[in-house]
Amino acid sequence: MGLSIPELTERIRDVPDFPKPGILFKDITPLLKDPVALRQVTDQISASFEGQGIDLVASVESRGFILATPVALNLGAGIVPIRKLGKLPADTIHTNYELEYGTNTLEMHRDAIQPGQRVLIVDDVLATGGTVKASIDLVERLGGIVAGIAFLAELTFLDGREPLAGYGPIFSILQF
Ligand code: AMP
Repeated sequence: MGLSIPELTERIRDVPDFPKPGILFKDITPLLKDPVALRQVTDQISASFEGQGIDLVASVESRGFILATPVALNLGAGIVPIRKLGKLPADTIHTNYELEYGTNTLEMHRDAIQPGQRVLIVDDVLATGGTVKASIDLVERLGGIVAGIAFLAELTFLDGREPLAGYGPIFSILQF
C-alpha cells in the first residue's frame, strides 16, 4: 500500500534553469518534508537490498546523506560519507569527475572501507551517472565491493546507467 508512483512523483518539484540555464532540476524537498513519503521511499530502497549482506551505505553530500542514513539504519549498516574536496578531516583518497553541470572532486576517508566490505551506494537523482561512477571508483580503490546502487529518481534520457553497468544491481523508485 502507501503512496502511489503518481503521488510520489507529484512530490518532486521541477525547477527549470537551476543551477544553470537548460537544466530541469528535480527538487526532492517536497517529498522529504512529507513524513509518509520519506518513510516509504527509504523503506523501499532498504527493502530491495535486504538480506544482501550490506555492511556500509556510501553516499555523496548533501542530498544523498538524507536518504542514506535511514536506509543504513534499516539494513543494520554503517554510513560512509563521500564529500567535496576539503571537507573531510582525516587522510583521504580523491577522484575527479564531470557532472551534468561542471566538474567536481570527491573525497572519502582512506580508512572508510575495509577490503571485502559490501557497500550500497545511495543518491537522490541519477543524471549522467558521473557522480556515482566516481563513488564506485573510490569504494573499489579501498577494496570495497559495490553490492548495489540505489536512487530515489532516475533521469532515463541521460543514460546514466551506462557508466554504472556491471557494478551490481541498480534500483530506482521514480523514472523521468
Ligand atoms: P550525475 O553525476 O550527472 O549523475 O549527477 C548526479 C548528481 O547531481 C546527483 O547527486 C544529483 O543530486 C545531481 N543532479 C544532476 N542533475 C540533476 C537534476 N536534473 N535534478 C536534480 N539533481 C540533479
